[in-house]
Amino acid sequence: MAEVVPLSRGDLRLTYRIPSALQPLLPGTLVIVPLQRRREKAVVVKLTDVCDFPQNKLLNISGLLSEGSVLPPDLLKLATWMAGYYMAPFRTVVEAMVPAPVREGKGQMRETMIEAIRPVEKETLEALNKAARRQGELLQFLLQQTKAQPRSLVLKRMNMSASVAEGLVEKGLAKCHSESRVRESYQDGLDAEAVTASGPPALTEEQEAAFTRLEEVRKEGGFACWLLHGVTGSGKTEVYLRLMEKTLEEGGQVLFLVPEIALAPQTVARVRSRLVSTGANVVVWHSNLSAGQRADAFREVAEGRANVVVGARSAVFAPFPDLRLVLVDEEHEPAYKQEETPRYHGRDVAIMRAFDRKVMCLLGSATPALETLYNVRAEKFGVVKLTKRVDDRQMPLLHVVDLRRARAAGKGGGLFSPLLRDKMIDRLEKGEQTILFLNRRGYSTTALCPSCGHVVECPHCSVGLTLHRTDNRMRCHLCGYEKEAPTYCPSCRSPDFKWKGSGTQKVEAAVQALLPKARVVRLDADSARKRNHFRSVLQNFRKGKIDVLVGTQMIAKGLDFPNVTLVGLIDADLSLHQEDFRAAERTFQLIVQVSGRSGRGDRAGEVVVQTLTPHAPPIQFARRQDFDGFLDEELSLREEFRYPPYRHLIRQVLQGRNEEKIWFVAEKWAEEAEKTLGADVEIRGPAPTPIEKVADEYRVQLWYFTSAVSSTGQRLARMAQKFELPDGVKMMFDVDAVGL
Ligand code: ADP
Ligand code: ZN
Ligand code: ZN
Repeated sequence: MAEVVPLSRGDLRLTYRIPSALQPLLPGTLVIVPLQRRREKAVVVKLTDVCDFPQNKLLNISGLLSEGSVLPPDLLKLATWMAGYYMAPFRTVVEAMVPAPVREGKGQMRETMIEAIRPVEKETLEALNKAARRQGELLQFLLQQTKAQPRSLVLKRMNMSASVAEGLVEKGLAKCHSESRVRESYQDGLDAEAVTASGPPALTEEQEAAFTRLEEVRKEGGFACWLLHGVTGSGKTEVYLRLMEKTLEEGGQVLFLVPEIALAPQTVARVRSRLVSTGANVVVWHSNLSAGQRADAFREVAEGRANVVVGARSAVFAPFPDLRLVLVDEEHEPAYKQEETPRYHGRDVAIMRAFDRKVMCLLGSATPALETLYNVRAEKFGVVKLTKRVDDRQMPLLHVVDLRRARAAGKGGGLFSPLLRDKMIDRLEKGEQTILFLNRRGYSTTALCPSCGHVVECPHCSVGLTLHRTDNRMRCHLCGYEKEAPTYCPSCRSPDFKWKGSGTQKVEAAVQALLPKARVVRLDADSARKRNHFRSVLQNFRKGKIDVLVGTQMIAKGLDFPNVTLVGLIDADLSLHQEDFRAAERTFQLIVQVSGRSGRGDRAGEVVVQTLTPHAPPIQFARRQDFDGFLDEELSLREEFRYPPYRHLIRQVLQGRNEEKIWFVAEKWAEEAEKTLGADVEIRGPAPTPIEKVADEYRVQLWYFTSAVSSTGQRLARMAQKFELPDGVKMMFDVDAVGL
């Protein structure tokens, strides 16, 4: 008998009989079962001999969905935990874990291989050459090969038709078999920059100490979570690489998570060039993989042929048979949080996997998440630090510029303070490079009428439209709505209509106006969507073909260009002003990360941070690179308000087209939650989300602050099952929510 969990009802566990045709059946196999007169997809979780139910009344499993087991026991266990913890339907977790072609046992490419049947007598070959010359040529070629070759490839190369090969096979001189083949392209296109194969550098003293300590922990075995807290440019990647090498020497597999593959081309290239030369099979697991490619990667890992997986969030589900080291780079990145169901946190799931496998998990960052630092202080996590840049390069000199003063002095209106302007001119003269960061895209953020105050909003979302100068159109970044930009106010017809705020396009234009001779290129979410564009810009920048790179903060992480000696943060306040209790943390991280892009070569770097709030604590602490100071201040604030990491946070969103209905439901739910959840859970809301309407759907949210996240989640899930949600209203939960 088999215990199965229907994908649609993750809370049910049912027992079925296994018909002999389906034997042997393994846990982790996807099957079809009859359930309440329907056929349901389900996953086998356990084989069993006991059942409370009379055995002769048990129903049979109807059929198989997957070819064998697709979920090894540890992933099965993880799926169950995730469905519960993240309040996500079991089906969505399984779908996130297993690529569709694997789930359905499809999509594996097979190829016919051909080889000679040895030994072949000399006389046979000679006779064949006379009787059928083409067959003779083919046989001769096959005899020169040490192993079977793809038939289609051989025939194409020798310009032969299939009948030549068939003839050989009929004569008993060659044989064919079919083999599963991996789509080669699943790791294409990511080699990014060439990496000099000069061999590993000698570790600095600090790196050596960190590596020795971490290697001790790793060798000891068992679960342990450690933080590698190293300033930008301190050589964290080198420490990861050494730990990986040690793990590979022992024959184990390694998981290496990065926030987003497309933004980490250098890291990926380094890992690959270093490890592949030692014979490792490195799989790059990125979001642009097709379903088939992902299925290939999945099988490569599952069958133990790949021993390193470098990938973004979803790589945390790679089905390693022998995982022995988990690395999470830039662990503070919000990109690790999945913003659709199942809303899991890649870093936290990585820690769970390491815990389950009883292996080491290493988190690395120059600006660790507050949650992580809190766990270090509580001694749940160990920590090693790298305080210096490699080669004792200096940390950049950081200037904070008060934009209010600069503007009051009459030099305002522009994007650049006099200080930043002078330094940009200076860099161009010296032939050094500059990066300018801005946290917005588009030319301007919103259109505002100075006469009547009218703002052009998206008709479907409660946000202002963004102007894109290149085609003079306004676009909504949430739903994609677009229309031509007006030249006068649509409301009062005033021709003084203005675009307020500043975007990357505007910065680009301003740089070009200030430095007409400079080669300026912009890189943001819009342009980065084209993968090759992103890569070629970075390559050109590295080669010195670009003087000024303008980008959003998405390009702030991980880039390492030795000739960059100036970094400007155009407006450090943008992230401070979000209605988010993490705003200070984000601002601090942004400034420190952005600073890390300056002065990575032999010359010292400089950073200019422009702000309207120069005295705000995150800006001041970041200026001094005072992590402990910031941590003390921020933790005491969080403790006072009992925000995470002092309590967990569950966010609930109700959404639908009818605003009144949504509010009515939200109030009713809040009333019930008040009664059900008990006094130890603090409920806030209902309140509108910061963006109230997206694509014509209104959104209202509730917050639950709790010390017992699992049991609160369970109680909410039970409530949700009983609650009668009216038509047209959707509800979702986000456990350990990161955004707003
Ligand atoms: P981080 O990830 O801490 O910001 P990286 O690992 O990217 O830093 O290292 C920064 C630069 O220093 C890289 O170009 C790297 O190749 C180089 N590097 C790292 N370790 C050493 C070392 N021991 N000796 C010389 N160069 C090193
Ligand atoms: Zn919209
Ligand atoms: Zn107007």
